[in-house]
Amino acid sequence: MTTPSVVPVLVGEQWLEPEVTQFTPVHRPGTGEVIARTPHCGAVDVDMAVQDAHAAFPDWANTPAPDRGRVLFRYRELLEAHFEELAQIVCRENGKTMDEARGDVRRGIEVVELACGIGHLSKGEHLPQIANGIDGFSSREPLGVCAGITPFNFPAMVPMWMFPVAIACGNCFVLKPSEKVPLTANRLGELFVEAGLPPGVFNIVHGGREVVDALCRHPRIVAVSFVGSSAVAKHVYELSTQHGKRCQAAGGAKNVILVMPDAVESDVMGAAIVADMAMTGVLSSAFGCAGQRCMAGSLLMGIGDHCDPLRDQLVSAMEAMTVGDPLDSDVDMGAVIDGGSRDRLNKAVAAAASADLVLARDGREGVSNDGFFVGPTLLDGVTPDHYVFTSELFGPVLGMMRPASLQEAIDTLNRIPYGNAATIFTSDGSAARQFTREVSCGMVGVNVGVPAPMALFSFTGWDDSFYGDLHVQGHEGVLFYTRQKTVLNRWL
Ligand code: NAD
Repeated sequence: MTTPSVVPVLVGEQWLEPEVTQFTPVHRPGTGEVIARTPHCGAVDVDMAVQDAHAAFPDWANTPAPDRGRVLFRYRELLEAHFEELAQIVCRENGKTMDEARGDVRRGIEVVELACGIGHLSKGEHLPQIANGIDGFSSREPLGVCAGITPFNFPAMVPMWMFPVAIACGNCFVLKPSEKVPLTANRLGELFVEAGLPPGVFNIVHGGREVVDALCRHPRIVAVSFVGSSAVAKHVYELSTQHGKRCQAAGGAKNVILVMPDAVESDVMGAAIVADMAMTGVLSSAFGCAGQRCMAGSLLMGIGDHCDPLRDQLVSAMEAMTVGDPLDSDVDMGAVIDGGSRDRLNKAVAAAASADLVLARDGREGVSNDGFFVGPTLLDGVTPDHYVFTSELFGPVLGMMRPASLQEAIDTLNRIPYGNAATIFTSDGSAARQFTREVSCGMVGVNVGVPAPMALFSFTGWDDSFYGDLHVQGHEGVLFYTRQKTVLNRWL
């Protein structure tokens, strides 16, 4: 058997194999096979990348914004030309279905499209005659070398939340992708270099905690973007701000989907039927990407008597889902990222079932042991004192709660420490309005199962889902990667 190859780092314009002794296996989660090895870089490798980025910064920052935008346009064309190839890499190393992998790449390309308009996005303000004979203007200036640290669950989209905008703004960038999915990031890097990016503007280092901490401490790095679990987000935020950097750190989530009674209709025989839009929304939110989305609906709420038909129809739909290797066949749900995740999820389900939760559907059964699979799982009877209410499980395990009213649902979900997203399914405008106004989280869906903002809006998590001030994407993304200069001119 041949040893899987080592994933190279990108420093300057060179792809290098770092001299390291520690590696993380990169799996194909759909089969369990090891397809590559991620090197664990250290402070020395980080320093090499940062010094190259620092050297490239003055020229790149001085490149006219429309010229920077043109490189982004070429990058966008290359991403389109390699769209299917990129989706295959995502699917192979992450285990999500091909359609989900295409969505992952598509959302990333949309950020590149946003960044193509950087000339317009980074314009300042001008006020002539702010005082007698004096004109004032402000401009947005690049910061220097920025770093990005990303999770495994969106190998294309999450890195692209960061580096296209940072680089379009005139910064240089060092990306540290998840050690579990480094192959997509490297391909994104190759295509960016091919698009005409000057050497050193974009760099990639690989590894785990050591490399993350080295980035947060490096004196030449001025800004750190992080996306991952809340514990690590907090650590990265604290360490990088202690070292004088600006930081945006998005963390985990516990997102609620509330299905209101009016979304459960009666058929001609008087039987209760959950509206298609609600059922499809719940299924795709809870089980899309095998529940490994920070926007996944992981707690389902119905109201009173309507919970039983909701639960029964959901369980039937879950039974009908096919789970398997997403590269080989057309499945509804792929794999979770690794054996550790599968075992952790199975343990959590066993613990919930042996407590007082009802295992309405057991996803531990009927899945293949070749690869890392957990089937769709439903735990009914969750209460606010249960860990299923407070903890992010990050897999296809949906908890169900039965509040008595809309107000009780809102009050309950506002006790969750995270603040990412909440969704309501209803045709009642006043219920939707009350929900939208009163829920304490940064992203809200009305009849939208996964209310993930696309590139034009920022990704606005609150509370334990975000540490920092300015979020990724949209207007805040540009503000994060630039600083303001204000000039007063007198020419008399
Ligand atoms: P993770 O926190 O384990 O890893 C994220 C990154 O941090 C990786 O690059 C990893 O190498 C690094 N890292 C891990 N442990 C570290 C440590 N102790 N010190 C320093 N660095 C460390 O997250 P994950 O398992 O890769 O991704 C899943 C998590 O990401 C979930 O919690 C999910 O909700 C979250 N997520 C959040 C958003 C969002 O926008 N809020 C988006 C996607 C994913």
